[in-house]
Amino acid sequence: MINIVILFLVAMLVIGVVSKLRTVSARRIGRRRGGGALPGKPRKCRQCGRFLIGSDRCDCDKR
Ligand SMILES: [Zn+2]
Repeated sequence: MINIVILFLVAMLVIGVVSKLRTVSARRIGRRRGGGALPGKPRKCRQCGRFLIGSDRCDCDKR
């Protein structure tokens, strides 16, 4: 009888851990879908107004 009880408790612990992991992964996926869909807003140069692609500084800033 004691073995059955221990097995039951272990099974409950495993189910609890798995459910926690599932909720955490679901939350992470939701965050990715909600906020991380776009890598970021396109930056614009303050001086000339062109979009900065690939680099943080614009060509007009170097010259
Ligand atoms: Zn510029």
